[in-house]
Amino acid sequence: MDSSNTPAETPLSPYAADLHIGNSLSREKERFTPYNPPYVGMYVCGPTVYSNVHLGNVRTFLTFDIVYRYLLHLGFKVRYVRNITDVGHLTGDTDDGEDKIGKKARLENIEPMEVVQRYTNDFHDVMRVFHILPPSIEPTATGHIVEQISMIEKIIENGYAYASNGSVYFDVRKYAEQHNYGALSGRRIDELQNQTRALDGQDEKRDPLDFALWKKADASHLMHWPSPWSEGFPGWHLECSVMSTKYLGKTFDIHGGGMDLKFPHHECEIAQNMGAHGPEEPVRYWIHGNMLTVNGRKMSKSEGNGFTPEELITGNHKLLEKGYSPMTVRFFMLQGHYAGTLDFSNPALQAAEKGLERLMAAWGLLGDLTPVEGAEGHPDVDALRDRAYAAMNDDFNTPMLIAVLYDAVKVINSAASGHMPITEEGITALRALFDQFAHDILGLVPETQDGAGGEDRSDQLMEVLCAVRAEAKANKDWATADLIRDRLGALGVQIKDSKDGTTWTFD
Ligand code: AMP
Ligand code: ZN
Repeated sequence: MDSSNTPAETPLSPYAADLHIGNSLSREKERFTPYNPPYVGMYVCGPTVYSNVHLGNVRTFLTFDIVYRYLLHLGFKVRYVRNITDVGHLTGDTDDGEDKIGKKARLENIEPMEVVQRYTNDFHDVMRVFHILPPSIEPTATGHIVEQISMIEKIIENGYAYASNGSVYFDVRKYAEQHNYGALSGRRIDELQNQTRALDGQDEKRDPLDFALWKKADASHLMHWPSPWSEGFPGWHLECSVMSTKYLGKTFDIHGGGMDLKFPHHECEIAQNMGAHGPEEPVRYWIHGNMLTVNGRKMSKSEGNGFTPEELITGNHKLLEKGYSPMTVRFFMLQGHYAGTLDFSNPALQAAEKGLERLMAAWGLLGDLTPVEGAEGHPDVDALRDRAYAAMNDDFNTPMLIAVLYDAVKVINSAASGHMPITEEGITALRALFDQFAHDILGLVPETQDGAGGEDRSDQLMEVLCAVRAEAKANKDWATADLIRDRLGALGVQIKDSKDGTTWTFD
C-alpha cells in the first residue's frame, strides 16, 4: 500500500456496501454509510506528547490504522486527522492539576516546546516501527488557539458557556435541558453530580459538572495566550472539537480514540460541537478501542506497568522474558478484536511469534509452488476472499480474518507438500489474497522491512555513501575513500569496486 496517503484512484469496492461498524453511540453494529461517499472523514485523538509512548497507546493507534487501511482498500477517499495534544491536558485529566507538558518542562528545566518536539519525534518513530501509516493531517492544539477562542465565543453566544474570573466554563445543566448529555458514555447527570470532587476552579463554576473551555493561567503556568477573558490556555476537550470541525466539517463520519476517552473527553467534545454548531450530531460513527492490560490492569504510565516499544524489542523490562519484534506485537494485537480488552503476557507473545512465522513461511512458499496444468480441485480462493471480506466487514474483525488466512496457509502447505495440485490461477489468487489482506490491510511485512523502510532505506544510504566515495576518488582524496570503505567494513558491509561501479554486501 502507498503510505503517501494519496487515496488510490480505485472505484469503490462492491464489498464496501456491507461494511458494518460497532458504533459506541448507538451501541449497535451499523451499516457504514458515509455522509458524502466516496469521501470519508475520520478523526482520532492523538497522544499527549509529554512522555514516551507505551504499548497501550500503540494498540489504540494500531486499531485505527486498520480502520484507515481497510477504508482505503475499499476505495474510500479518506481524510484521516489525528491530532497532537501539546497544551491543555492537565495532570488531573479534568480541570485540575498542572499542564502535563508544562510540568515536564518545569522538571527538566527546558522549554515546553522542547518537550513537545522530543515526544512527538518519539511517537513518530514508534508509529514507523510498528508500520502504522501517518494520518493525512496531524494538527496541534497550540497551532489552533485562534480557532479555539472563536469556538468558545460561539458557545457563549449560544448561551451554553459563561466567563467567570477570567476562565470560561461550559454550562452542562443548561445544555442538558435540550440535549442528551451522557448519551455516549451512558452516564446520567445526577450520578455525575454525586461523583464530583472538590477540584480546582470549583468556586468559579456555577455547577461542579461544568468543564473548562478556557482557563486563566496563574503565574507559574508556562504556556499561555491572550484571549478576550484572560491570559490563559484552552481546556483539553476543546482542541478536538475545533480541529475535527475545521478539517472534516460540522458533521463527519468517524471519530475514534481509546475507551478511556469516552468520558469526559468525548462526551464533552459532543457537547461543545452541538453547543457551537447546532442540533445535528457531529459524529456519525464513534469507535472506541479497548485497553491493553497487564495481569488484568490497564497498561499506563502511572501504574508503572507500561513499557516502551524499545524495552519490548530489547526485552529489557522486568515483565519481559525476552525481546519481541514489532511485527510479532502487531500480529499479537490483531489476534484480538479491537473492542475487547487484550491482556499482555509472554506466552501469548511467544504463540504470536510462532503463528506469524507460520503465516510468513507459507506466504513465502507461494513463489516456489509448481503449478499443475488443469489440476482438479484447484483451491477455492474466491470463497476464502469472500470470508476475508466478511470478517473485515464485521466491524473490522481481524482475528476472524487471521483465521481465514490460516486456512489459506493450509492450502499452500498441502500444495507445497504435493498433497494437492494447484493451478497457476490458484497461486495467483492466493498471492493476491495475502498481498491485499495480510500486507495492505493487516500491515504485516517481513521483519527485515521494518516500518522505517528496512532494507530499502539501507540500500539508499549505501548509494549515498558510494556516491560520496566515488567523488572522493575522482578528487584523488584516497584517505576519505579508504575511510568510508574501512568504516563500512567494520560494520560488516563489504564494498567491491568494478568497472561497472561499486556493489556491496551486508554480513
Ligand atoms: P494519551 O497520550 O494518554 O492521551 O493516550 C493516547 C491514546 O492512547 C488515547 O487514545 C488513549 O485512550 C490510548 N491508551 C492509553 N492507555 C491505553 C491502553 N492501556 N490500552 C489501549 N489504549 C490506551
Ligand atoms: Zn481528543
